[in-house]
Amino acid sequence: MTSISERLQAIREAMHKAEREAGRPEGEVHLLAVSKTKPAADIRAAHAAGQARFGENYVQEALGKMAELTDLPLEWHFIGPIQSNKTRPIAEHFHWVHGIDRLKIAQRLSDARPDTLPPLQVCIEVNVSGEASKEGVAPGEVLELARAIAGLPRLRLRGLMTIPAPTRDIALQHQPFRMLRELQATLNQQGFALDTLSMGMSEDFPAAIAEGATIVRVGSAIFGARPAKLKEDLS
Ligand SMILES: *Cc1c(COP(=O)(O)O)cnc(C)c1O
Repeated sequence: MTSISERLQAIREAMHKAEREAGRPEGEVHLLAVSKTKPAADIRAAHAAGQARFGENYVQEALGKMAELTDLPLEWHFIGPIQSNKTRPIAEHFHWVHGIDRLKIAQRLSDARPDTLPPLQVCIEVNVSGEASKEGVAPGEVLELARAIAGLPRLRLRGLMTIPAPTRDIALQHQPFRMLRELQATLNQQGFALDTLSMGMSEDFPAAIAEGATIVRVGSAIFGARPAKLKEDLS
């Protein structure tokens, strides 16, 4: 069996290769290690191998692991769907939130973000795959949502995030990532200064890096396959 540290090393090398091939500086893209359903011990092992950013999808599960890992200087990213009754613990315990697709959620996060912490760093989730996905705003609605979020005092809008329909066809993988990058450019022309594209997972991060990803969210390629059915139990 390959260890977490060996798999992390392999991912970093694959990321560097994708960066070189895209003519981007090596090390420019941030790796978010998606540790949902995995124990705190796995996060500790990844941290020992140089990993500091972790992504979690389920609030209660994440809070339990955070409590076990308070001795480590970790950066926590909430990447799951956000229920409005969970906005307070998210605003109190995470550094980043990637999946914002409704103003109401953004308002609640801003209201609940403690003054003692820096603003919550957020991305708008965009549905660039059409019907294949239920989450995320339609591309045509991003500008309006971005304007509203930019006015919220305790959030800092950093960029866009997407979870495209999975495909092993490399050419098809590029399409939604390119769309997200073009959408970012459009928003920046409208006066935003978005610096983040959160896109790419275990199966498609090289394509995402080729299209301009600044954060790739990689889970199973680092920590191994996840149990299929845990989702409901953990949210
Ligand atoms: C689970 C998850 C990932 C990681 O998926 P892998 O295929 O295991 O790399 C990335 N992003 C989001 C939003 C996820 O829910």
